[in-house]
Amino acid sequence: MPARRFLAFALAAILWPGVAGPATSAQAQAAVRKRVALVITNATVVTVDGARRILAPGAVAIDGTDIVGVDTPAAIAAAFQPRQTIDGTGQIVMPGLINTHGHAPMVLFRGLGSDLNLMDWLQQYIFPAEAKLVTPAFVRTGTQLAALEMIRSGTTTFTDMYYFEEEVARAASEAGLRGVLAETIVKFPVPGAKTPEEGLARNERFIKAWKGNALITPAVAPHAIYTLDGPTLRAARELSKRHDVPTLIHLAESRDETKIAEERRASSPVAYLEGLGFLGPGVVGAHGVWVSDADIQVLKMRNVGISHNPESNMKTASGVAPIPKYLRAGVSIGLGTDGAASNNDLDMFEAMRVAALLAKHESADPSTLTARTVLEMATIRGARALGMEGRIGSLEPRKRADLITVSVSGARQTPMYDPISHLVYVIHGDDVRNTVVNGKVLMRDRNVLTLDATAVIAEARSWAAKVRAAVKPAAN
Ligand SMILES: [Zn+2]
Repeated sequence: MPARRFLAFALAAILWPGVAGPATSAQAQAAVRKRVALVITNATVVTVDGARRILAPGAVAIDGTDIVGVDTPAAIAAAFQPRQTIDGTGQIVMPGLINTHGHAPMVLFRGLGSDLNLMDWLQQYIFPAEAKLVTPAFVRTGTQLAALEMIRSGTTTFTDMYYFEEEVARAASEAGLRGVLAETIVKFPVPGAKTPEEGLARNERFIKAWKGNALITPAVAPHAIYTLDGPTLRAARELSKRHDVPTLIHLAESRDETKIAEERRASSPVAYLEGLGFLGPGVVGAHGVWVSDADIQVLKMRNVGISHNPESNMKTASGVAPIPKYLRAGVSIGLGTDGAASNNDLDMFEAMRVAALLAKHESADPSTLTARTVLEMATIRGARALGMEGRIGSLEPRKRADLITVSVSGARQTPMYDPISHLVYVIHGDDVRNTVVNGKVLMRDRNVLTLDATAVIAEARSWAAKVRAAVKPAAN
């Protein structure tokens, strides 16, 4: 008798000592099956674990906040007795996508002032509109709209730097999303802070209020070198070190930023920040487009994470980040959408596809940035860039249950020879069927359970009328 069968038999005998004769095999099996909250079964399971296992078919068992089993449907059925089951037939189960850079409430500026370069777009549209309109209520509605879009397109963790970040944290945690969130610190008056000192104080209050939360990781967000002076950049970094939280910054995004570094007698934005003593573990730099080989070595040495935002970079014509060089150097690279205002959506599947296509186009080599690597950037590598790879980014027992199921049975997805290729080159955010974060089902069969979609969209429309009025002079 195999050891497992014997154990089951022995346990059954202990549980039913009065029963004459051996227990039936069904009884024995029931006795050893662990009761769990949820099993997703009969799907193709793309784990992105250390061995990059793909189970076809496979199943995932979830209990409390964690994944407790990833195996074949038969093995999961033998080991677990779920209270709830999701049949994943015709679907892929994969880790939830991790968006490593963005500004969630900016969904309310979606499509505002398209086709401009970054600095003109910011100065003519975004900064004036933000100064007039951004209030806690704006941020709350914007985050709810963004959360709705993210849950529906498979993002389970998002990184955010904006204003009134406590509203982002509240709306995100109510919606059930995981977030790495920080109040943006800028040298000029911004919503929520008249001075950078006020911004820093606000950021510290935010950290103290949210540190230790199961879903929200508070962070510090000095906006960029072109919106802050050296002493404030240093103070922001000190704040994040003092509280042991990540530092989020726009880094080497545009050529103009390089000029500002040169005016401050540094060869590049990376060299400037290195000179300030700013770079180190926990820093996540968004964009990293304008970097030299020496800069990449510094980023690796300082263990800085980089967020690649190909759609935003292409739309603002900011340049192409040298992703293959970063990967060769061993820098942790995640993927991001940036704010919807410069993208113009939060679909991480689209970000994956564009990242792969851009790298191939740029290098004139189709083997550059494979689908496998891009998928890792949207999951485990993104988790690593944020310092969260021990908790999220792959489907493995003891990690948090942050996962999604994706339909692969429609006309567009048929046939499927290679699930990884499909996830990067075929699947859209709208193909996501179920979204689970921290063990909680946020979307079931495309119905978002944690937000009132109709109410959120109506509220967002009412804000759009105010945005339109606020930017009218700039638009004429
Ligand atoms: Zn950004």
